[in-house]
Amino acid sequence: MPSCGSCGVSVNESDNFCSKCGHKLIFENEQKELPEYVKKARLLYRNAYQTWSSEDDLKLKELYLQGKSKQELCDYFGRNFGAIRARIQKLGLE
Ligand SMILES: [Zn+2]
Repeated sequence: MPSCGSCGVSVNESDNFCSKCGHKLIFENEQKELPEYVKKARLLYRNAYQTWSSEDDLKLKELYLQGKSKQELCDYFGRNFGAIRARIQKLGLE
């Protein structure tokens, strides 16, 4: 059974929101159709809404420190500008 990404309580795959904390549930590996907003975003950015792996974080850090522009980083990671910027800030790079 999947669990809530926010509080960790077990949830049903058919639920859209966690019954305990109200967190919006997104199941990464489900067979179900992706929500429309994710499909639309992925037409432009192939990795939109994917979680960042530790390899991605390392690569982002490496490329950022090499002086790549955010546009290049968007292209490389297949994510939008906001996602790249937020991740750079989260990693404490700027
Ligand atoms: Zn929850």
